[in-house]
Amino acid sequence: MVDIEPDPEANVCSAGASLPRPSSIWPNSFKGRPARKPRESPSTDQNRSAAAAFVEKRGHRQHGRRPGDPQQEEGRPAHPGKAVFEASDRVRLAESEIRRIKFKHAIVATGSKTQSLPGIDIRKGGRVMDSDGALDLPDIPERLLVIGGGYVALEMGTVYASLGSRVSLAVRSDTMLRGVDPDLVVPLSRRLKELFENIYFNTRAKSVRESDSRVEVTLEGDAPEANQSFDRVLIAVGRQPNSAELGLDTTKVKLNEKGFIVVDEQQRTSDERIFAIGDVAGAPLLAHKAFREGKVAAEVIKGEPSAFDVQAMPAVVYTDPQIAWCGLTESRARQQKEISQSSVSHGSSRAGRRAWESRMA
Ligand SMILES: Cc1cc2nc3c(=O)[nH]c(=O)nc-3n(C[C@H](O)[C@H](O)[C@H](O)COP(=O)(O)OP(=O)(O)OC[C@H]3O[C@@H](n4cnc5c(N)ncnc54)[C@H](O)[C@@H]3O)c2cc1C
Repeated sequence: MVDIEPDPEANVCSAGASLPRPSSIWPNSFKGRPARKPRESPSTDQNRSAAAAFVEKRGHRQHGRRPGDPQQEEGRPAHPGKAVFEASDRVRLAESEIRRIKFKHAIVATGSKTQSLPGIDIRKGGRVMDSDGALDLPDIPERLLVIGGGYVALEMGTVYASLGSRVSLAVRSDTMLRGVDPDLVVPLSRRLKELFENIYFNTRAKSVRESDSRVEVTLEGDAPEANQSFDRVLIAVGRQPNSAELGLDTTKVKLNEKGFIVVDEQQRTSDERIFAIGDVAGAPLLAHKAFREGKVAAEVIKGEPSAFDVQAMPAVVYTDPQIAWCGLTESRARQQKEISQSSVSHGSSRAGRRAWESRMA
């Protein structure tokens, strides 16, 4: 295993555990309602201790490994370093003690990164952040703008609102969680209207200017005030695959128009030696989908007749209330003129993937 990170399991949601779940930060809030009134100041003792717990949990996940613990050592790369393909059968390693690895088969699992907005620069440690930055904040912002209406935007907005931030959400379209059944979205949207200070639909950020202590934003659309000032801004408008700097042009691997690696149901790319799994291999961008694809790829390489043939893929959004669904969604079924049930439905893996693709778009 080659990974740029010396400790890849500390990445967001690797092993399904790294993202601090709102329920693990605010144990009481998910039994009923948050223990504070919405839009309360972050300066109460309760919120301060919740914020401390948040920072502590995050620190534990990032730095809390016990040296020599075999279970913890298991997920560590044998070769820390950045891999770049030089041909279909070898990679060059940068920032590593060994220079090259030759292989019979390779599995690409390089994940995805936040897509930014035109003209907006996301710097590590800056006030304009991606989700990695938002999970590693030194403070709880008084006023936070979240740009985006997908699950990352809503989860992070809920976490910070629960910690006492006054959260404004700017969504480009007229709905949040596009592609998810309205039966689930409507009650969530109602609740978020209480929890967040503002929700602006049909709104885009025209300009975002960062200074030492503030971020000045110009909003265009339904927001009544165009010019607003925030302590921090989180950009969560979608994700793009980490495929551009991999040297894949030296192989036969094909990318689609969005840069995701094209794979078949056995996770094979167009290069017979190379397989791809997880976010870099396309939607849905979910940890459990990545794990399952990894197992399929390993089994196929071993010569077993394995395939990504799941019948229904579960999905959870860790907001308040949390929402979950599985397989073909009702709205997608209606579009396809199929009969479906509203709570739990069963569909083909292709239908599940399509529902997710529309949600992630
Ligand atoms: C804020 C947030 C919340 C999320 N919440 C959930 C959730 O609740 N449930 C869920 O199922 N999913 C969730 N996800 C999605 C989940 O994190 C991803 O789907 C999952 O991590 C994808 O796994 P992966 O192996 O494809 O990529 P990653 O887990 O991103 O791993 C990619 C690895 O490749 C390494 N790498 C990249 N390029 C190179 C290179 N050239 N050489 C060597 N190493 C390289 C990186 O260092 C990294 O360790 C969330 C994502 C975000 C951002």
